[in-house]
Amino acid sequence: MTTVGILGGGQLARMMILAGAPLGLRFKVLDPAADACAGQLAPLTVGDYADKDALARFIDGVDAVSFDFENVPAHAVEWLAERAPVFPPPAALAIAQDRLSEKTLFGEIGIPVAPFSDITSSDDLNEAVATLGVPCILKTRRLGYDGKGQFRIRSRDDVALAWAALGPQVGKTGLILEGFVAFQSELSVIAVRGRDGEFRAWPVTRNWHVDGVLSASLAPAAIPAPLQQRALEYARRLADTLDYVGVFALELFCRDGELLANEMAPRVHNSGHWTQDGSSCSQFENHLRAGLGLPLGDTGAYGMTCMLNWLGAMPDPSPILHEAGGHWHDYGKAARVGRKVGHANLQAESPGALAASLERVGEALGRQAQVAPVRASLV
Ligand code: AMP
Repeated sequence: MTTVGILGGGQLARMMILAGAPLGLRFKVLDPAADACAGQLAPLTVGDYADKDALARFIDGVDAVSFDFENVPAHAVEWLAERAPVFPPPAALAIAQDRLSEKTLFGEIGIPVAPFSDITSSDDLNEAVATLGVPCILKTRRLGYDGKGQFRIRSRDDVALAWAALGPQVGKTGLILEGFVAFQSELSVIAVRGRDGEFRAWPVTRNWHVDGVLSASLAPAAIPAPLQQRALEYARRLADTLDYVGVFALELFCRDGELLANEMAPRVHNSGHWTQDGSSCSQFENHLRAGLGLPLGDTGAYGMTCMLNWLGAMPDPSPILHEAGGHWHDYGKAARVGRKVGHANLQAESPGALAASLERVGEALGRQAQVAPVRASLV
């Protein structure tokens, strides 16, 4: 019997556990919160990631380690890696934890990115804004997620405000200034690489964010075949360079037929949740298969699938459950403003059928604004 230990006990860990159970896997979870939602499904060690005692209790009986968020302290992952195989590899995690090293790597391997600049002082910021122009975005290099730790600089007048907001972080997380990309769409590649280097990717996903947080995803994205191939080629190049094992997401901006990488997530990703109901093998199952050296599953899509994120509180499930291709995913979390508490996947054979399903659901749940951009892209 194989036991997988997961650092972080949120919804990603929970869905890995759900996907791993049919493979006969057991799980253990480490999380600082006693009510971490993955703890409803597997034994939970409550403790800080930097606490050696907690790490020792967690690793006991664990055959392989993975994580459900990327901001796990690197030294904790290294300590665990001396005791059990860790996937994805700690070196890939370290690069993805720092926007500067991540973007530098993208550039080195020929994956285009928006112009960026390391910021270490307010003088740096003034100079970089003058060079990159406005609008641009000041971000923390580390520990940012879902649009947190970011400040949009719309005009030169905003520079002082941006520095007041994020300047105090400079010694802790570092800062990076990025040129603003006036994209037509946001895309992601969800891909998996096995221990033997086999690479597979799901069809490219299109994503819509609201206030920096993912609101909806649609796959396969309706993009020209050469663009799809280029996106997958970038993902493969990145995975090979990092000698990656497991699932990852590469987030891309699409502007005038050009792809610019935003960031990579060295883990299963919110924009890959559609694979649970829209593909032969979900990102969660393939992540486990890859990490444990099992054959990788098929990444082909069934028709089209839209994922709708539920933030704050779960809506009424009935309208989704009434749909032939409707699937409900409740993370078992307490309601809290802005918190990701669940999602729904709507799967259909054709764009028209999916648009109709989205219209019914949007209407019944009073969520027309959330479904509108997806519907518009389907007609
Ligand atoms: P991130 O935390 O970097 O994934 O950013 C969250 C969201 O903010 C992205 O999905 C975009 O919608 C937006 N965003 C981030 N960086 C940029 C950029 N350089 N240009 C335009 N939009 C951006």
